[in-house]
Amino acid sequence: MLHFHKYLMVFTLFLALSCSKKEHNSFTFVQLCDTQLGMGGYNHDIETFNQAVKQINSLNPDFVLICGDLVNDATESSYADFKNIRDKFKIPCYCAPGNHDVGNIPNDSTLSFYRKTIGKDYYKIENKGFSFVVTNSLLWKEDIINESEKHDDWFKEILKSIKLKKQPIFIVGHYPLFVNDIEEQEGYFNLPLEKRKELLNLFDQNNVVAYLSGHAHKPLINNYKSIQLVSGEATSKNLDSVSDLGFRIWEVSNDTIMQHFVSLQKPFNENPMN
Ligand SMILES: [Zn+2]
Repeated sequence: MLHFHKYLMVFTLFLALSCSKKEHNSFTFVQLCDTQLGMGGYNHDIETFNQAVKQINSLNPDFVLICGDLVNDATESSYADFKNIRDKFKIPCYCAPGNHDVGNIPNDSTLSFYRKTIGKDYYKIENKGFSFVVTNSLLWKEDIINESEKHDDWFKEILKSIKLKKQPIFIVGHYPLFVNDIEEQEGYFNLPLEKRKELLNLFDQNNVVAYLSGHAHKPLINNYKSIQLVSGEATSKNLDSVSDLGFRIWEVSNDTIMQHFVSLQKPFNENPMN
């Protein structure tokens, strides 16, 4: 009888743990794109970024990812303004670099300025059984001596190590892989064709569930097999005439991964020249 009770207790504990584990694994996070202070008018972009922080705090996601172009001109002063607003998040905020942060063709001085002022340009975080690999997609866009190869080696290695843990992976970058068609020619808004295909193959082989990017200043929602490829609206300025400023909220559970857009609430200063 005593033994039976013991087994019952162990079984109940097992049930409780497996239930809580499932619940534990559902969470939300926010994808924020192109805060790019100075692109839609400096004061305007300060205001809209502040507004995004306010709304995101009230939604209380686990964390926020900014998919690059934190500022329009990377200087001590624009980054100080950026960090001032970013520090108002009540949740962790992780940044990826954009072309406006480290230059269209990054070099030693732009990369070291970013690393000194903002932090690492590529790294990995984990949340509730999911991995998030933040990349420096500029090093995919351009072949930078001493940097791109190192970044590629790190990327392959990190995917391999996460695969061993059987964790689903989100990849975070700045450049969309492609805009409309996987076979399209390389232009300002996508990655080189060969690199794009190499990455999609790597994603496919390593349990990548989504690739999040910015740079487009309008929504780009694509799929490759079951991998979601999502570039979101900016908070600074969009380049299409229909999208609101805002951010995307991702809802993640063991069974489904979905995202939707959230508009910035007005009033914020709508005249982008101010
Ligand atoms: Zn950009």
